[in-house]
Amino acid sequence: MPRYRIAVLPGDGIGPEVTRAALTILEMLQPRLHEVAFDFEEFSVGAGEFLRSGDPLPPATLEACRQADAILLGAMGLPSVRWPDGVEMTPQLDLREKLDLYNGVRPIRLFHESHTPLKNLRAGEIDFVLVRENCEGLFSDRLRRRDPAATVENDRLRITRPGSERLFRAAFALARSRRRHLTLVDKANVLPSMAFFRETFLEVAREFPDVATDCVYVDAAALFLVQNPRRFDVLVTENMFGDILSDEAAGLVGGMGMAPSADLGDRHGLFQPAHGSAPDIAGQDLANPVATILSAALMLDWLGDPECRRGAALINAAVEKTLTDPANRTQDLGGNLGTTAMTRAILDHLET
Ligand code: ATP
Repeated sequence: MPRYRIAVLPGDGIGPEVTRAALTILEMLQPRLHEVAFDFEEFSVGAGEFLRSGDPLPPATLEACRQADAILLGAMGLPSVRWPDGVEMTPQLDLREKLDLYNGVRPIRLFHESHTPLKNLRAGEIDFVLVRENCEGLFSDRLRRRDPAATVENDRLRITRPGSERLFRAAFALARSRRRHLTLVDKANVLPSMAFFRETFLEVAREFPDVATDCVYVDAAALFLVQNPRRFDVLVTENMFGDILSDEAAGLVGGMGMAPSADLGDRHGLFQPAHGSAPDIAGQDLANPVATILSAALMLDWLGDPECRRGAALINAAVEKTLTDPANRTQDLGGNLGTTAMTRAILDHLET
C-alpha cells in the first residue's frame, strides 16, 4: 500500500488554525481512500521557531522536507519578529529557493456570486490559474545585505533562459489540461529582462501549437483582471508581478482565505494558502480555512496516485457544495462562521 510522508509546517499566526482544519479534512478522508495512507509529521518553523531556537527554518526541518513526499504549510512570519536589518523572516521563500520550487500555481475560482466585488458574475465564471515564477525575478536580491550608509539601492530583476523555459513548459502543460489558453504577463515594452522573458516565451510556445497565447503588460493585466476576469485561463508571470497579481486575483473571489497555492519543483511540492499569518485575526477562530483545505486538495492531486486524485476531487466537490449555501460564510466573506464551523460544514459534505 502506498504510504505518503507529509511534512506539516503549521507556522505562525493563523497558520496552526488553518493547518489543523486541513488535517481534519485529510484525516477524515484517509479511511475512504483505498490502499493509500498518509503519515503526517509536524515541524516547528517560522517566527515562533526563531524565538525558540534562533533559526526560523532549522536544517533538520529542511532535511525532513526534502525527504517528505509533500509539504503542507500554514503561514509563516510575524511583523513583530524581524532580522536586525528590519526585514521580516520568510522561511517560506527560503523553502521555495532551497527546494527549487520554481512553479508557483495559484488557482482562482469564484464559488459563490456573493464572494466577488464584481457585478454580474456567477459561480464558476471566474476560473483561472496564475502561474508565478518562484525562484528568480525581482526577489533574487532579497537576501542581499544593505549598506546602511548607501544613498542608492539596486535590486536586480534576474531572468534566466533555463528558469524561464521550465516555467513556461509547466504553464503550457497546465493550460493543455484546461481551456488551452495561456497569457504571458510581462513588461516587455520597458525592461530588457522582460523583453528576454517574452522572447523565450514565444520560443517555447512553438512546442505547444495547440495552446492559444497572448502577451499582456502587467499594468494592463491588473486592469483586465478587474474588468473581465473571464478572459483568462492560465496566466504566467515573473515572481514579483505574480506576488502582486495573486493578491488582486484573490480579491476577486473573496480574499486571501479563498486562494490556495502549490509551489512545485521537479522533485518536491509544497502546498499552502496564498495568505500570510494574519496576526490581526490569529487565535480567534476567525480565519477562513478554505484556502488551506483547497491547498490540501492540490497536494493530493499532485501526488498523482489515482486514489489521491479521487480524494482531491472529493475535497473540491465538498468545498464547492458547502459554499453554494450563502449561509456558509466566514467573516471575511461577510458571514459569521468561525474556522471550526466552516471546517465542520465542509466535513459534513465530505461525509455525505
Ligand atoms: P504575507 O506578506 O505574509 O503574505 P500579508 O501581509 O499580505 O502576508 P496576510 O497575513 O495575508 O497579509 O493578511 C492580509 C489580510 O487578509 C489581513 O487583514 C488578514 O486578516 C486577512 N486574511 C488573510 N488570511 C485570511 C484568512 N484565511 N481568513 C480571513 N482573513 C484572512
